Amino acid sequence: MSSPLLAEFLNLVKIDSPSGNERALANYVKEKLISLGWEVREDGAATATGGNAGNIIARLPGRGAEKNPVLLFSAHLDTVTSSAGVKPVVAEEVVRSDGRTILGADDKAGVAVLLEVARRLREGDVRHGEIVFLFTVGEEAGLLGSRFLKPGDVKADMGFVLDSGGPPGTIINAAPREDIWKVRIRGRSAHAGVNPEEGINAIRVAAEFVRLLPPARVDGDTTFNPGVIRGGQATNIVPDLVEIAGDMRSHREEKLGELAEVVNLLLRQTCARFGGEGEIEVETLYPSYHLSPEAPPVKLATVAAEQVGLEVVVKRRGGGSDANVLNALGIPTVNLGIGLEKEHTPEEYIRIKDWENCYFWVMEIISYLCQPGF
Ligand SMILES: [Zn+2]
Repeated sequence: MSSPLLAEFLNLVKIDSPSGNERALANYVKEKLISLGWEVREDGAATATGGNAGNIIARLPGRGAEKNPVLLFSAHLDTVTSSAGVKPVVAEEVVRSDGRTILGADDKAGVAVLLEVARRLREGDVRHGEIVFLFTVGEEAGLLGSRFLKPGDVKADMGFVLDSGGPPGTIINAAPREDIWKVRIRGRSAHAGVNPEEGINAIRVAAEFVRLLPPARVDGDTTFNPGVIRGGQATNIVPDLVEIAGDMRSHREEKLGELAEVVNLLLRQTCARFGGEGEIEVETLYPSYHLSPEAPPVKLATVAAEQVGLEVVVKRRGGGSDANVLNALGIPTVNLGIGLEKEHTPEEYIRIKDWENCYFWVMEIISYLCQPGF
């Protein structure tokens, strides 16, 4: 079993697919699924997100278990950076890159599992309900592909995203909402040597503002991060503009409203002290989700993991994924641990054993015969 999965993965990582440039990989996945008898379409996310490919939505009718709930499985096509020229190294039961690029296992390991599942189902001896595959684009650039979806674009009773770290058996049943905040601080420019006191140095105002911001971990549910700062034009000009942006995330959505007010107040007070002006914009990137252990995808992932002998860990995580968006679209969805390690770095790797287990887990989720009302 390991060889077709590994061979598929090695094909996939050769196709470079940084966010916004998923065309070649999208074509590969489409052709593969069509050849395996799936009904495949691509949506219009490419134009809306500035990329060159849309989300791929594929469907396979049920066989012998048509009454089962409709199951959605999802993985993203894009990688966080380019992996052009990647040289995968397979050694000691692990796949990694040669250290010069990312491997791209995030999320091609998930894509490979789903393509292998499609190949296996083609053999025709597995009973299953209707299955939908969703391959999204622009996930690493802010869930752009999934956020393009409207309610009803994808129809399923529950969903499973294959895009989390942690060994198979890990079920992410909750993730925070993420808001992006952008602050603009305006001062007044002046000559740095001739009349600096006539200026209002926006960098000094910004420094004080940043010093007063909430800490990285605000409380057990909430994080806060100033992530980008830009300002000033030249060493001999008193700077008149600084822009700062960051994110804040919380499992308790009301907490983010409170934080936005705190930040706004700090900004106004600091600017008033120095005589500058401040503006703040806050945008919700995606909502939080929280599913109970009794929610259908948590239950099904749990029983299936037990069937294949995986240790079940149900937990929440601090990062968002397409699961946040799918839940908001009304499809209860969990994110599954597929054994990703050190993703987003050149040290990224995946253990072949973990990943085979992920394949068996997904096959078990699909072939588990749900009782009415599951
Ligand atoms: Zn990912």
